[in-house]
Amino acid sequence: QAIATEHSSLIIYSQSLGETISKELALTEQLRVAISNKELELYFQPQLNIQNGQIVGLETLIRWITPDGFISPAEFIPLAEKSGLIIPLGEWITINACKQAKYLIDQGYKDIVVAINISPQQFQHPNFYDMIVGALAFTQVPAKNIELEITEGVIMYNESDTIDLLHKLKAVGLMLSIDDFGTGYSSLSYLKQFPIDKLKIDQSFIFNVNTNEADKAIVSAIVDLGKNLGLTLIAEGVEELEHLNILKDMGCQEIQGYYFSRPLPVAKLHTFLQDNQDHKAFA
Ligand code: C2E
Ligand code: MG
Ligand code: MG
Ligand code: MG
Repeated sequence: QAIATEHSSLIIYSQSLGETISKELALTEQLRVAISNKELELYFQPQLNIQNGQIVGLETLIRWITPDGFISPAEFIPLAEKSGLIIPLGEWITINACKQAKYLIDQGYKDIVVAINISPQQFQHPNFYDMIVGALAFTQVPAKNIELEITEGVIMYNESDTIDLLHKLKAVGLMLSIDDFGTGYSSLSYLKQFPIDKLKIDQSFIFNVNTNEADKAIVSAIVDLGKNLGLTLIAEGVEELEHLNILKDMGCQEIQGYYFSRPLPVAKLHTFLQDNQDHKAFA
């Protein structure tokens, strides 16, 4: 009897694990089809300089809207990374983000910076540098208008190769930022070796920055650290005016979040930029 119970619970366990795996495989296959049918779309989330009220940048965020609903990148990007699909998908994202940057520059937004999220698997790929430089040449967009967002995760692989590659990308004129700053496990010493322009303070520290003393202390320390290193600071996940005011008092230069704007499809982005060219109200 005891053995039978053990046996049946083992079966239940392996069934649910199997279900998870086959769900993942099905979604990966669905993603492969979506990529080749071009069912994915880029949204852009405006970034605001809160010291002078100017829109300074846009973060490119991928969206997958299926007939059955929206699938979050938090769900499918990890699958794209596991399956290798992130390589062709990442190239498609890069080229289309560059195209959008070029379009906006030609419309007169000549200082706009379009940020692109880079997965560690892309960064490790031997063709990554050529892919980026190729996309810049193909779309005729100046490198200074493009920012690559990397996470502390890329640093974990091979430190000296990472430093070399970052210096090569910086030499081209690209902007470089550390995404989700404060959530990684790497030491801070990389900050002095990497040619980084900007720290993106993770949204988990921002959501309660107005009510939680520990979060406030952490954000304030990151702002001071970044400023002393000569880096630009941007806070992610700014949802309330109170967050904005605290960050402004701390000396954080930029914000991104639902308070200013959600990620926008291209059609809405252009109207938003026109209506908000000069946002003195926030400065
Ligand atoms: P991330 O790069 O840290 O992007 C910021 C996420 O925060 C986005 O989620 C954005 O929509 C969300 N967000 C922005 N403002 C607020 C706010 O005020 N409140 C809240 N609650 N959330 C806010 P999203 O678009 O779902 O993307 C999730 C993650 O998926 C991204 O985190 C990034 O790691 C990844 N991802 C998205 N697009 C791409 C892409 O094109 N390439 C790669 N490699 N990864 C991507
Ligand atoms: Mg990002
Ligand atoms: Mg982030
Ligand atoms: Mg993230």
